[in-house]
Amino acid sequence: MSSNPNTLFLRLAGPMQSWGTSSQLQIRRTDECPSKSGVLGIVLCAMGISREDSRRELQHLQQLTMGVRIDRGGDRGWDYHTTGAKFGILSADGKIKNTASTGEPETQLSRRQYLYDASFLVALQGPPLIIESCANALEDPVWPVFLGRKSCVPSEPVFSGLGCFVDLSDALSSLPWQARPGEMERYGHGSTRTLDAYTELPAGSTHSNNARLVYDVPRVFGFHSHGSRWLIADKVTVKVEISNRRPPSVPWSRRPDYQSAQWRAARSGRLVSDDYLCVFCKSEAQEVHHVTYENVGSETNDDLRSLCKVCHDACTMLEYGRGLQLRRIDPSDPSQREEILGQINRILTERRLGRRRELLEKSRLTGRDFFEATPST
Ligand SMILES: [Zn+2]
Repeated sequence: MSSNPNTLFLRLAGPMQSWGTSSQLQIRRTDECPSKSGVLGIVLCAMGISREDSRRELQHLQQLTMGVRIDRGGDRGWDYHTTGAKFGILSADGKIKNTASTGEPETQLSRRQYLYDASFLVALQGPPLIIESCANALEDPVWPVFLGRKSCVPSEPVFSGLGCFVDLSDALSSLPWQARPGEMERYGHGSTRTLDAYTELPAGSTHSNNARLVYDVPRVFGFHSHGSRWLIADKVTVKVEISNRRPPSVPWSRRPDYQSAQWRAARSGRLVSDDYLCVFCKSEAQEVHHVTYENVGSETNDDLRSLCKVCHDACTMLEYGRGLQLRRIDPSDPSQREEILGQINRILTERRLGRRRELLEKSRLTGRDFFEATPST
């Protein structure tokens, strides 16, 4: 890859997406694929730039051309949507309509269209400096990004890499199409697929017969003011890649049997070799922690660490929700030290707060000030 990429890839995939460019009224349709205003909106969200401040940044972003590859078109569906914003809808004579039974302003009804289970590869192409600032934002977004509407959450990371390409068609042909685990039989190894794509003609380039004009280039967000661009319907042929994004299943049958004689022996063996001291803080060890579940049922001394209660709580709390497989948090690994210390501090602070709340509650109930007689912590 060149040191100055001119192309940024975005993966727009999720259970729901909606890319409306035609209406802001009660019936809100989605287009077939992401609009330029929607995609630049994602970039601005990632940069943390509000609608009100978007005008200046949009002047830079408008130098980018955009191409979309339709990896999965998705199914279209309508959602019946109500909004009770209390401002009501107007009747023909200009008065707010109220519900007869409650006297409250009538609920607004709208129908909103979505694409279900669609997946698009989007390429933005232009000056490397602008591409780089967009990439940095998408790798570490300031605000959450969404696929056209706030209810549409991406199911994969949006940032999908950088590259240097002759044009958008070249860029969109460079990445493989991902088959899902259930589709493997249909596509053998080395097979290809031809996909629909829409690429934007750069401003000032020769007009092409099969180009169509679309109005989805935002000038400023917040007002509906859109410029136009020429789009060409294209086809790209790409390799099929078999993806298996599901993590390997955890062999929970290997969960330790804490009642077994084998475990008791392994546990006390480790405590003896640590002189009954916590390997992290050197206070008295009460517990023994697994740094790996690889040898559950026949743990070696090296699979275990003696810990005090607080350090063990910190290690296990750090493990929650991380999808760790056999390897666990290791309190004797220097590179994990800072993180464990941070967690210990959080635990101690929370316990102190809990104690203070408890004392305050006692003071309230008995009318006595417990803090007067309590040494400060
Ligand atoms: Zn400790």
